[in-house]
Amino acid sequence: MSSPSIPLAGVIGFPVGHSRSPRLHGHWLQRYEIAGHYVPLEVAPERLEQVLRALPQMGFRGCNVTIPHKEAVLDLADQVSDRARRIGAANTLTFSPGGQVHADNTDAHGFMANLGDGAPEMQLAGATVLALGAGGAARAVLVGLLEAGVGRILLANRTRARAEGLQAEFGDRITVIDWDTAGAAIAGADLIVNTTSLGMTGQPPLAIGFDGLHKAQVVSDLVYSPLETPLLAAARAAGAVAIDGLGMLLHQAAPGFERWFDHQPKVDAALRKAVLA
Ligand code: NAP
Repeated sequence: MSSPSIPLAGVIGFPVGHSRSPRLHGHWLQRYEIAGHYVPLEVAPERLEQVLRALPQMGFRGCNVTIPHKEAVLDLADQVSDRARRIGAANTLTFSPGGQVHADNTDAHGFMANLGDGAPEMQLAGATVLALGAGGAARAVLVGLLEAGVGRILLANRTRARAEGLQAEFGDRITVIDWDTAGAAIAGADLIVNTTSLGMTGQPPLAIGFDGLHKAQVVSDLVYSPLETPLLAAARAAGAVAIDGLGMLLHQAAPGFERWFDHQPKVDAALRKAVLA
């Protein structure tokens, strides 16, 4: 299979209309004057394998993967990166010229790059982290933080067994605490990360009590709708560094764009504006 003159990429989901990825990649394509396209691809689960085999033949260099396919693609890919394997899901596929599918997960990179932008001075080595939530996003955050050398992660989740599952998988640097005690654990953490959907538009608020927030802390919320969640507003009011979730979404997209369109894109204010428009 030869490399197509007009590179194509897209996002596979079901449904996929809510995805911000087409706007995000579309902004970069226009900005760097690349004659390529990035399209939303609504693919039902029973068609996933068939579509993955067809896309390389149609000129696609790769694609992003969103709900509900992030886990299923691991079994269909020809190669899976270590990070995708550890996180247990893939969000970025790259197709070789011969049509082989390589699956990767760039969410840990996205989270860490956003953290680096928002808190460039932060010393992660040895830091104490309070992580709220034990779902899919939490897995990527834990992998990123553990690789960065944090000392201890206090992990609280409504369903404690799910947090215990992550502790068993990711090891001793994780300590599971009761969801009811999460508010009390805030004061002793250097970094607080919300990976739950609480605080998101249409979801219940994150009601754990924010009294322990103080100015020596960094607070990151993965929720990006709204951008300023009550957690982040409380963090700012306490003088802490507050980092919203949009930057993670933008940064996780960059490696895919570079692989498919041969250009390293910038995550900056212009991109934020375009995605929020
Ligand atoms: P998920 O796998 O469904 O996990 C949801 C998490 O939220 C679980 O820990 C769940 O606890 C918790 N939760 C939900 N409702 C709750 C409630 N009423 N009370 C207490 N805990 C509750 O979802 P996900 O994929 O991890 O995504 C989580 C959030 O991160 C979403 O808001 C998503 O938009 C955001 N996210 C952002 C980015 C980004 O780039 N910024 C990337 C990925 C995800 P249980 O285990 O008890 O159900």
